[in-house]
Amino acid sequence: MARYTEAVCKLCRREGQKLFLKGERCYTDKCAINRRAYAPGQHGQGRKKTSEYGLQLRAKQMTRRFYGVLENQFRHYYEMATKMPGKAGDNLLILLETRLDNVVYRCGWASSRAEARQLVVHGHYTVNGKKVDIPSYLVKAGDVVAIKEGSRSSDKFKAVIEANSARPAPKWLDVDAQNAQAKIVELPTREEIDLEVDETLIVELYSK
Ligand code: SF4
Repeated sequence: MARYTEAVCKLCRREGQKLFLKGERCYTDKCAINRRAYAPGQHGQGRKKTSEYGLQLRAKQMTRRFYGVLENQFRHYYEMATKMPGKAGDNLLILLETRLDNVVYRCGWASSRAEARQLVVHGHYTVNGKKVDIPSYLVKAGDVVAIKEGSRSSDKFKAVIEANSARPAPKWLDVDAQNAQAKIVELPTREEIDLEVDETLIVELYSK
């Protein structure tokens, strides 16, 4: 599947906030947002007026890039979100947050969502005891996600878990580090999702 492979730090600088696309580097002083907190390119530091459409587009692009989801799939999540009870914007973020690749990243079992996606595809995780290799798999409350028995003792996983041990998991995940498994206690609420975006702008964009 096509993925954005250019300098990912530019994406964060374009959106004006950390999207955590580069693993450990994102948590250090080397992060480009800490060093050059302006948009990339010749006019990156210039003042810009942003139209209503521009704001909506930026909100959508930022969210899409944060979760590493392509346009068609992102719109599909929006369509799902509008059919669920509650606010479409909240539902959209909750759906994205419950993707298996995101859950694995939140558990600290991958350094970035891109790495999580790759590890999921390679079959290193189980859900309720069964191997799941689909990054977009949506977990439910009560599900138990785990690192596969054969994978958890590998040097690669030991290094990844060690590198990410300081990153706390959100409250909706009960991570049992000893057994390399995590229970989805409940679905996350909007307040528990740390993406600084006005999701109503995305809803406005897609409802046109
Ligand atoms: Fe974004 Fe990470 Fe690069 Fe910082 S280091 S700009 S958070 S991808």
